[in-house]
Amino acid sequence: MNEPRTGVPRRGLMLVLSSPSGTGKTTIARALLEADPAVEMSVSVTSRAPRNGEVDGKDYTFVTADEFAAMRERDEFLEWALVFDNFYGTPQKPVEEALSSGRDVLFDIDWQGASKLRDREEKQNRADLVTIFLLPPSASALEDRLKERAQDPEDVVRRRMAGASNEIQHWDAYDYVVVNRDVEASLAAVRAILEAERHKRDRQVGLTDFVGVLQRDLQHDL
Ligand code: 5GP
Repeated sequence: MNEPRTGVPRRGLMLVLSSPSGTGKTTIARALLEADPAVEMSVSVTSRAPRNGEVDGKDYTFVTADEFAAMRERDEFLEWALVFDNFYGTPQKPVEEALSSGRDVLFDIDWQGASKLRDREEKQNRADLVTIFLLPPSASALEDRLKERAQDPEDVVRRRMAGASNEIQHWDAYDYVVVNRDVEASLAAVRAILEAERHKRDRQVGLTDFVGVLQRDLQHDL
């Protein structure tokens, strides 16, 4: 697909957004999807129960643990992980389809998922992956947000606070780090990262042809 603004065909990229839950990742992901039609969300499959308001097929594809295991057996996941006793996995097929047609895919996955995608990239000698870690501005801001959400029982909130500390340990494996003090500013930072990454030479797979035509026409006009 041609990039609408440059007219040069490019390969899509995989934009991974990781953070402890309660950092505002979902808000930023949604705003990015709304603002940028070339980005699509990777809808993960999970064995956890839906929260209030979550829509099957949109927020997650909700399955039983057995169904998840069957998908894993069939090698349908790009990566999968066990997070807070539930299975989460990224279906493979839609991602490759999007990338090869020049669309970017946004992943809301944890550090384990990001790490598996990095290993996979290295093995396949690809460079589709761009990873961003979102940090909360403080521990109390994170706790407030988890309590505010009030969707999860109190013991789950406590476990998620402990999980946050574990997740944050992995910040230094990411390409970019954004401290989310302000949603608008963080969204702007994520969009700027995406915009710059789209201009990487290797992603613009149509550049050789584009420059070839440019040179031919320049010679012709001499
Ligand atoms: P939640 O239950 O709050 O929706 O998600 C819990 C954690 O699982 C979040 O950190 C989220 O990023 C992560 N997660 C969601 N989907 C996937 C996935 O497909 N793979 C991996 N590795 N993590 C995921």
